[in-house]
Amino acid sequence: MKIHLLSDQLASQIAAGEVVERPSSVVKELVENAIDAGATTINIDVRQGGRESIQIADNGQGIAAEDVETAFMRHATSKLQSIDDLNAIRTLGFRGEALAAISAVSQVTIVSRAEGESAGTRLVLAGGVVENRETVGAPQGTVIAVENLFYNVPARLKFLKTAATEKRLIDEFVTRYALAYPHIRFRLTHNGRITFQSSGSGQVRDVLVAIYGPEIARQLLEIRDWRVETEGEESNLQSPISSSRSHIEVTGFVGPPGVHFANRGQITLFVNGRWVKDTQLTYAVIQAYHTLLPSGRYPLGLIFMQLPPEDVDVNVHPTKTEVRFRQGKAPFGTVQRAVRQTLVADAPTRQMSAWALGSNEPGSSPGWMGSLNPDAFISGSGEQADLALSWLDDVEAPDDNGEASSLPLEAESDSQLPIMRVVGQVGASYIITEGPEGLFLIDQQAAHQRVLHEQLQAEWAEDKVTVQTLSTGTAVTLSPSQAKLLEQFREAVERVGLQVEAFGPNTFMVRAVPKIAASCDPARLLVAMVTELEQSKGVVEEAGLVTAVCQTISLRPGQSLTQAQMQQLIHNLEKCADPFTDPQGKPTFIYLSVAQLAREFGRI
Ligand code: ADP
Ligand code: MG
Repeated sequence: MKIHLLSDQLASQIAAGEVVERPSSVVKELVENAIDAGATTINIDVRQGGRESIQIADNGQGIAAEDVETAFMRHATSKLQSIDDLNAIRTLGFRGEALAAISAVSQVTIVSRAEGESAGTRLVLAGGVVENRETVGAPQGTVIAVENLFYNVPARLKFLKTAATEKRLIDEFVTRYALAYPHIRFRLTHNGRITFQSSGSGQVRDVLVAIYGPEIARQLLEIRDWRVETEGEESNLQSPISSSRSHIEVTGFVGPPGVHFANRGQITLFVNGRWVKDTQLTYAVIQAYHTLLPSGRYPLGLIFMQLPPEDVDVNVHPTKTEVRFRQGKAPFGTVQRAVRQTLVADAPTRQMSAWALGSNEPGSSPGWMGSLNPDAFISGSGEQADLALSWLDDVEAPDDNGEASSLPLEAESDSQLPIMRVVGQVGASYIITEGPEGLFLIDQQAAHQRVLHEQLQAEWAEDKVTVQTLSTGTAVTLSPSQAKLLEQFREAVERVGLQVEAFGPNTFMVRAVPKIAASCDPARLLVAMVTELEQSKGVVEEAGLVTAVCQTISLRPGQSLTQAQMQQLIHNLEKCADPFTDPQGKPTFIYLSVAQLAREFGRI
């Protein structure tokens, strides 16, 4: 075949493929244009997931009558003049491709009236060719209707997903932009029904309520005023010294550890007002939750980063959703620390972390040592027959006057908790302790699960779970499907310390259990394992088995504890690397400082 130039129209259609992949890309480009035009109201109306039509109306500055046709030409933009502008992009658009690309693969009608003009212009295009132009009365702003997307590109049309998938992508996009631009009032309708709207109040929290509902929105923690000065790691080669100093600001919202999701979809990153996809930064958010979330669960994070536009290269891809940072790894560390700090600051342990950092020597407060009063101790009724209290094995015997267990034990030198004195138990579920500067209400089940989990997890990670061989063994009969599962994952189960052998049809003999579960009914333990296997539907995460053991054998609400048992539990909790939450991320305790108490009683 002879080499020839592609026709303009074909070239445009090919180029359009990079920018307009699907209906949500049309919504993205048009909403970005409306934002760039300074709109305060943006209405998005979608039919059939965008396949039938997408209409976007804004009250922005509009397009001058003489520019309307130009706007639809390839590489036509009002946002970029010279190569220098490309080094510091301050608008969402700059490539001058979107309107050309969209009109090349659909039928477009635009009505726009520019600020200061007395009438508007209506232009109709099909496949990028202008079919009609007239002057019309119109309010200031722009309305663009995109119909029959890909009508002239059958190959693309074939690959479109269902209307429901496209709707989901459009919803996702519009809600994210509503979060980043809370002062803009967004309204989204699908087939004539309003599915989302934001008030334009300027408060991100109002938008969060509109998206997640009041319950989750209320719990989200705000990242406040996080700003770091950076030294550019990849300094500009031309001027290695001058331009390397910079800064990064982070604001946004993160979920507390108790709010988590099955995937990363709720981690949203904005860089200078642009929604970007960045696996590194997403990972920075996830890492900030290290040990705070159950395994396989992901947090909610809404991160807004602001940095000088010259430090960000957005011209990586036609869709402008990827960015490169001039400052190398600094953005990663900044996001990670901003999120972690926000989580730590919120934990009920706020004042206590400061304590743990050495701002207050343990035992140096006279109020603390002086208040030791053994008479104040309430002792538990000691009904422990069915308790799995093997952690009591290493408890010290009380000395003659019965006080040993009530004295504060030596705090672990690297402990994250202060030394605590057990005061008593409430509702056979919570332990009250006194710390140097306040009181702790400890959830005995959460605390015990944390203790067991760290112990078993550590042994399991080294493949050295200490087991207790059962002298008699316990036979357990399972359903045929359960038996098959157990056979299949027997190795994983044995690695957690549960040794079983086949003992007749669908029946197994438990020969050994993990030592920390020695006082638990072996049959219950086996059933818990099998239940975990069933729930994980073939993709067994061994870590889940560890958690299942701990949940089965841990203390429950309603179990009375003796003073010694409580003291031992607290002591073990002090030794934990992460004593603040249980393995599922729920808090192990609530802290009330003396200052807080004084406030509650109206003393300050
Ligand atoms: P870009 O946004 O990269 O400049 P587009 O093809 O998306 O390229 O838009 C071309 C030009 O049309 C923009 O630079 C802008 O001047 C104008 N324009 C597009 N949409 C709007 C709008 N909603 N309001 C005002 N002007 C607009
Ligand atoms: Mg644009």
